Amino acid sequence: MSAMSARPSPCDPALLSRIRRIVDERVIPLEARLLAEGWGATLPSLVEVRAEVKAAGLWAPFLPLEHGGMGLSLRAYADVSEVLGRSLVGHYAFHCQAPDVGNMELLIAHGTDAQKAQFLGPLARGDVRSCFAMTEPEHAGSNPVWMDTRARLEDGHWIIDGHKWFTTGADGAAFCIVMAVTEPEGPPHGRASQILVPTDTPGFRIVRNLKVMGEAGTDHPSHSEVTFEDVRVPESALLGPRGAGFLLAQERLAPGRIHHCMRWIGICERAFDLMCRRAITRELAPGKPLATQQQIQFWVAESRAEIHAARLLVLDCAERIDALGAHAARDHVSLIKFHVAGVLQQVLDRAIQVHGALGMTDDTPLAYWYRHERAARIYDGPDEVHKASLAKRIFTSYGLHARKGAGA
Ligand SMILES: Cc1cc2nc3c(=O)[nH]c(=O)nc-3n(C[C@H](O)[C@H](O)[C@H](O)COP(=O)(O)OP(=O)(O)OC[C@H]3O[C@@H](n4cnc5c(N)ncnc54)[C@H](O)[C@@H]3O)c2cc1C
Repeated sequence: MSAMSARPSPCDPALLSRIRRIVDERVIPLEARLLAEGWGATLPSLVEVRAEVKAAGLWAPFLPLEHGGMGLSLRAYADVSEVLGRSLVGHYAFHCQAPDVGNMELLIAHGTDAQKAQFLGPLARGDVRSCFAMTEPEHAGSNPVWMDTRARLEDGHWIIDGHKWFTTGADGAAFCIVMAVTEPEGPPHGRASQILVPTDTPGFRIVRNLKVMGEAGTDHPSHSEVTFEDVRVPESALLGPRGAGFLLAQERLAPGRIHHCMRWIGICERAFDLMCRRAITRELAPGKPLATQQQIQFWVAESRAEIHAARLLVLDCAERIDALGAHAARDHVSLIKFHVAGVLQQVLDRAIQVHGALGMTDDTPLAYWYRHERAARIYDGPDEVHKASLAKRIFTSYGLHARKGAGA
């Protein structure tokens, strides 16, 4: 059974095959070293592959042509993101890794010409990396309008003080987009702004790289705790209007969720492939492979159905965003975020189970994904937040608020 959707893809099939070939032949072979020796040891080879990708005209598929990318629509990029997701480092190799993608999109949509020249240019070229600091250890990240980080204007400069954590990729990033309250008297959704901070600005400090699921990454895979102590940047470092930080963050997240969901489907496909290969080759007794066991057959059939359904949901959502905009598609965005994260956990868990003890080792990418992708149900909004907001909008369509207002 074909893994891909029968729906026509706006992405040229020849282009997808070229990308798949590079992922299979140049990127996946780097995984063994990454898993055995870490990011630093793998980076030189990855840099080579990134140069090849750029020379082949396949750089940053989501990025508009004028910024050096391929200018694909969200729907077309969704297909590419799945192909890249099959490898641990596919997105990095093609320069579409989080959080840089979201930051580039923000700068394109809201950056001034000077900000684009200083921050977007080097980021789009892949000369630097960036990070995004919103979540604070002291407050529930699920309520993104509640934060203590403050920025005040003094003599034409923003002075920023605050404490953030889970700032992905902060270690080695050239700049950070920080969410800080600039309008303390404003309405809850209009209090924070986004400000661009070069990480070599005095007062910006990485306290530590957090140990996540037993691993404290460095460089690109890091998640850092950071502090801002009297960080001083020019007034012109404000990204977008004052008080629009929350709106911009929401805008950044909608396409970002499509990117993540399609990456997760790519992971599911690779896990599924590994699961099937193991099931037909691992014998319980001579001539009796695991694939003969009904439970294993059920896992394979259920996984196939779940991955296929998840892909169709995400592609449908991407088409809606392309056609109608992110706001009109917000129910669908919530729906795919929690649903696909759940499918990912389920498929990875089954694939590990089929591999037995081998599944617990780093001899396959499964355990790495299991450690790193558990977070899929938490970042960009935990499952419960998406489910609650979707359900509330459904109930509203049934007139819940109108009834309350009428005293019913
Ligand atoms: C790997 C990883 C990378 C991240 N990268 C970044 C980054 O680059 N920049 C950044 O700013 N942040 C980042 N984050 C932080 C992420 O955005 C927050 O973890 C997320 O918003 C949840 O906030 P919290 O962790 O404070 O959980 P809390 O808000 O404390 O919530 C805890 C739990 O409570 C439950 N819950 C919350 N709200 C509700 C509700 N309304 N109804 C029912 N249950 C609820 C959920 O189960 C939730 O998991 C990252 C997180 C992870 C794990």
